[in-house]
Amino acid sequence: MSSVNIAIDGPAGAGKSTVAQKVAQALGYLYIDTGAMYRAATWITLEKKIDISNTNEIIAGVKVADIELKPPDDSSRGRIRVFVNGDDVTMIVRSRIITRFVSPVSAIAGVRKILVAKQQKMAERGGVVMDGRDIGTVVLPNAEIKIFLTASSEIRAKRREQDLKEMGQIADFKTVLAEIEARDLFDSTREESPLKKAPDAIEINTDNISADEVVEKILKMCRDAVY
Ligand code: C5P
Repeated sequence: MSSVNIAIDGPAGAGKSTVAQKVAQALGYLYIDTGAMYRAATWITLEKKIDISNTNEIIAGVKVADIELKPPDDSSRGRIRVFVNGDDVTMIVRSRIITRFVSPVSAIAGVRKILVAKQQKMAERGGVVMDGRDIGTVVLPNAEIKIFLTASSEIRAKRREQDLKEMGQIADFKTVLAEIEARDLFDSTREESPLKKAPDAIEINTDNISADEVVEKILKMCRDAVY
């Protein structure tokens, strides 16, 4: 099968990373978790104690940093590992403090410019499954397969609550739900590359179907696209 690019967008907790990883594994493709890159940019900002309103300093910090994604290993509980200048920040970038600040950092045009360029470079030879918020609209507008994954906010908050518990973090459902809804509102109403379904993306609601069923649908779309 010749290599295509697969773009998966959608709000937080819709199941993007689980599905994207499984599709990548089935096809022998590279999985690129762009949310992890924005989380790394947020970690850099907080680590350097840069004020969240100081966009120039945030951009400068992200520009000089070496943000790297590596395949999961035993220490990362199935998650893609994230490194900043060689430091493993996989677990810390998933913490609630990073989640709280990731949307404002991601809304900065200069930060997006740097990370989008990296993402496009990683996909230039095809054979990637990339998930995020603007992949089908901005990063890979020519991706052969575009998926927009959705689910009700309650289901998404339940998944996120479970995720946090597995990482040993205290999570109260109501708070997680409020956080998820606030983050989606922020991400979808920002000026720069808002979360939005590409006109040619296929929308899949994951409320009542399993990740494996979604994976099957996507693999079928891939087969139909290349033959
Ligand atoms: O996917 P994840 O929930 O880890 O993404 C964290 C945040 O990163 C999102 O809420 C969004 O603000 C930002 N993001 C983005 N564009 C992407 C991926 C993530 O703005 N392509």
